[in-house]
Formats: sequence, C-alpha cells, structure tokens
Amino acid sequence: MSKNHQSKIHQLLENPTKIVLVAHQNPDGDAIGSTLGLGIYLQLLGHQTQVIAPNDFPKFLKWLPQASDILTYEKQTDESQQCLQEAEIVFILDFNAPQRAGNVSDALIGFKGIKIMIDHHQQPSDYADFMISDTSMSSTCEMIFHFISSKHPELITSDIANCLYLGIMTDTGSFKFGITTSTTHRVAAALIDQGAAHTHIHEMVYDNNRLENLQLLGRALQNLKIVSDLRTAYITLSQEDLDAFDFQKGDTEGIVNYALSLENIIFAAIFIEHKEDGIIKISLRSKGDFDVNAFSRAHFEGGGHRNASGGRSKRTLKVTEDYFLDIVKNYKNELSA
Ligand code: 5GP
Ligand code: MN
Repeated sequence: MSKNHQSKIHQLLENPTKIVLVAHQNPDGDAIGSTLGLGIYLQLLGHQTQVIAPNDFPKFLKWLPQASDILTYEKQTDESQQCLQEAEIVFILDFNAPQRAGNVSDALIGFKGIKIMIDHHQQPSDYADFMISDTSMSSTCEMIFHFISSKHPELITSDIANCLYLGIMTDTGSFKFGITTSTTHRVAAALIDQGAAHTHIHEMVYDNNRLENLQLLGRALQNLKIVSDLRTAYITLSQEDLDAFDFQKGDTEGIVNYALSLENIIFAAIFIEHKEDGIIKISLRSKGDFDVNAFSRAHFEGGGHRNASGGRSKRTLKVTEDYFLDIVKNYKNELSA
C-alpha cells in the first residue's frame, strides 16, 4: 500500500517554523538516521528543529551528526514537552501507530499542530494529517532521500548522506534483505557520491563491539534451539544472561539473524527478558513468504514487516517460550518443507 502527500508536505515547509521530529521507542538505525537526516535538511531550509527519542538509543548510533542534540523523552521530559508545545509541525518517522512512540504517544495524539508521517511499515494507522506511506520501501531513510531529492537534491550534504546511508544499511541488513531493490542501490550510490563514508559507517555500526557483546552472543548461541520439522529456530536470553555480560542497549541487536542463518531454517525468533520493564522483548525474522508481521500482530502485540517484526510478552520467559512452541505448531502448513 502506498499513500503520498509529498507535494503538500513540501508546500508546508515553505515558511520557516519550529519542527519536532519523533523517533519510535527503542530507536534503531533507520529511526535515528531518518530523524537526524531530515532534521538537518529542515535546518538548511531555515527551520528550527528538535529530534525527540522516547528512550535512549544504542552507542553505535551516537557518533552521527547532531546525535548529541537529541532529547530523550524518558530523561528530559519537561524540555521535550516544551518543544512539542511550541512546535507547529511534528514529523513522525519510521513508525505508523502512536503506541510505537511509547511514553511520547499521548503527547503525539494530543499535538495541536500539523502531524506528518513518513514510514514504510505495514498497516499504517490513519492519525497523521499528511503522510507518505510506502511498504515497498527498504527504509524510512530511503524515503527521506526521495523526499529531499524531489525538491532540493543539491541540499543533501555529507552529514545528511551519512545519516541516510546508515539507516538504509541497517534496515536492509547491509543490502541483503528482499526489500532491497535496484533503486535502493542507486540511492546508496548517490549518497556515497554526496559524501557518505560507507566503510566508516559500516565499521562504526558493526565493528565496534565490546568483549562482553561477543560473549553475550556466545551465550545466545548456546541457548539456541531448533524445531526442525517446523524449520524454526529460536534463542532465549534471560535477565541473568544479560547481567552476566554487562548488557547495554543495542547489545542484542542482530543476534536473531544467527538463528535465521542456519540451513533449512525459515523462521527465527529471539526472546529477551527485561525484568525492570516487566516484559519479554521479542524479535521475529523469516525468509520467503512466512509473514512474521501477521504472526507478531496475532500473538505478541507487535508488528513490523513480512520478514522482520517485533513484539512483546508480559508473561515469564519460560511461559512465553512454551506459548511460542504451542502456537508455532498451528503454522505447520506454511513452515514445514
Ligand atoms: P526489531 O525486532 O528489530 O525490534 O524490529 C523489527 C521490525 O519490526 C522493525 O522494523 C520495527 O520497527 C518493527 N517492530 C518492532 N516492534 C514492533 C511493535 O511492537 N509494533 C510494530 N508495529 N512494529 C514493531
Ligand atoms: Mn525502518
């Protein structure tokens, strides 16, 4: 599905004003890359901008230009609320339902100005005043590239190029996932021409591990289980596992992909216990037609894309694992070879 108010949005940006850009809860590379990249473009047009993230984001994104100016709603609530009150426009990037903004969702729903959403997730809620929604896009960062290029291609600076390249790279699994198109590669090429330091970005994101990261990965791989008749593999990480390796935000990113890398596996899951939040955070990945967006919506209060989705469970880790093993059997027709 696709919905496009692009020219109207360009029109709304003709007169300098105050603009807030909001990222989703637990921001990833695409969320931070798109809010920072579009924010810098808006500054070049003369707007005053502020990026707000509901909660903290991983260290491997903190080197991006202006990342240190991001307000974290959880910690800087008053300042964030004041910015939202003063802003005339809010951009909602890389998510399509207000609940995905966590503790910022009430402020977003009650926002008095103009809400503009740019996003590539499935089944968007209709709560923004204007939107560009395109589920065929690799990433919100790719959409921001098209949005800026349609009006002012000359304004894509190296800072913007670095932000957008990072989001495209992380959301496509380094240009591997099926959502990657020839256009995605052309966009990446254009961003390199405009100054994206692709090797540096890759190193900062993927070659920046602490020893504990790799040790936690080792534990996760020891915990990996296979349900071979359903071509399914899953990993559990308890709070004790996280504590043993000094868990920091971002440390579990990408671990689920190891389960999917096994031969004959088309469905992978990771269940991560976060005791303080009282939830099990779940990431689901698939290859081919198995729809993990639908699976997550049906069973784990989540959503996302066909081949990558997330969700949560408020039950214990063991009960969640047993529940998963129970329901996955109902997908035997789709999963077995
Ligand atoms: P991850 O497993 O990396 O957290 O998320 C995978 C994909 O699913 C991302 O595109 C993310 O935005 C989306 N996603 C994660 N959790 C949720 C959720 O609770 N609801 C929805 N609608 N999407 C989610
Ligand atoms: Mn995204």
